[in-house]
Amino acid sequence: MPSVFIKTFGCQANKSDSERILGDYLARGYVETAKWREADEIVLNTCSVRQSAEDRVRGFLLNLSKYVTESGENKPKVILTGCMLHFKEKELKELLPEVDEILPLSEVGFNQKAIRKDKTSAWVPISTGCNSFCTYCIVPFSRGREKSRPMPEIINEVKKLAEEGYTTINLLGQNVNSYGLEKTGITLRKLYLNKDNFNAASIPVNSTQYEKPKDTPPFVILLREISKIKGIEKITFFTSNPWDFWDELIDEIANNPKIDRFIHLPVQSGSNRILKLMNRGYTREAYLTLIEKIKAKVPDVVFGTDIIVGFPGEADQDFQDTVDLVKKVGFKIAFVARYSPRPGTASYKLYSDDVPAKIKKERWEILDQIANKDNLDNRPLVP
Ligand code: SAM
Ligand code: SF4
Repeated sequence: MPSVFIKTFGCQANKSDSERILGDYLARGYVETAKWREADEIVLNTCSVRQSAEDRVRGFLLNLSKYVTESGENKPKVILTGCMLHFKEKELKELLPEVDEILPLSEVGFNQKAIRKDKTSAWVPISTGCNSFCTYCIVPFSRGREKSRPMPEIINEVKKLAEEGYTTINLLGQNVNSYGLEKTGITLRKLYLNKDNFNAASIPVNSTQYEKPKDTPPFVILLREISKIKGIEKITFFTSNPWDFWDELIDEIANNPKIDRFIHLPVQSGSNRILKLMNRGYTREAYLTLIEKIKAKVPDVVFGTDIIVGFPGEADQDFQDTVDLVKKVGFKIAFVARYSPRPGTASYKLYSDDVPAKIKKERWEILDQIANKDNLDNRPLVP
């Protein structure tokens, strides 16, 4: 039987896609191997969020080439998928000549049975892509515009998981709050490539890309439906964005004991000036008000966050504002990243990457210490 080795880079969305890619291979009669040197086919599920993630893919392929040359073994077939597909196919072939085939993300889809290693806790995608316009982010280019998965499909998958003995469901999307609310979406490449008209003011504000719900938001309905499924004891979700964390969602969390009390709410910066350059569409005051509102209704809530340090123009005072916000909220975990300019994004085009690497590293260490090392107790296990 032919064998496949899947190497996953990056976030939980990629890990979840890899579970479905493996499902597809097994359905076609392949066996999984844990050793890439023994594989007939190697699938690289790539990440592009930072340059270092793309460099790791390059490093893996260089190792593979070296091994093939030195050992005289046949080269396995290399298939590339994931976020590096923001490059055009021709560019990818030049950049990574070892790649034999591209697997478009649309072919990965939602519907192949996922092969999960964990037998009690399952990741379930509810949407793909992203309709937002955070200036630093490559995800809307690599994953495309936001697309929600039909609710009956999600419910069916969760029912099957419950029958198999799963008790925890982790719902996954770039912005789960807006599930089922996306508008058509603006064509990113057109917007960003139109250089004559392109400036920071021409980038739409994130919250404008969703239909404001008149009634109960679909995500709240989804949470309720999943809670009714026999056997499901705990529901978590990643990621929520601050601009559409509706009151009804807060009430649902407060009233539904199956929903986890850990909420991942990326803030990215505590400086209003930087938040504006990032086009996040909220102020530090609005973020802190939201945190207070949630804490008031859900007293046992704990928060996680994502922060970028060293965004273009981030001065000492901007960073101090972030430190201050982190201390005020008391996050249980923070994923702190050093800004990495991503070709094609708005921040890459508009701003120069002017914070020296040494300062980025210092700021990263300070925040990591405050947010992660000073409060090792009671740290949530996910994500
Ligand atoms: N949709 C989620 C959100 O809005 O927070 C997650 C997006 S992204 C896959 C995960 C994290 O990577 C972001 O929250 C951000 O902190 C970080 N990130 C994205 N682009 C980056 C860049 N160009 N440089 C450094 N970190 C970046
Ligand atoms: Fe990227 Fe912003 Fe979309 Fe998150 S919400 S994936 S940071 S564009």
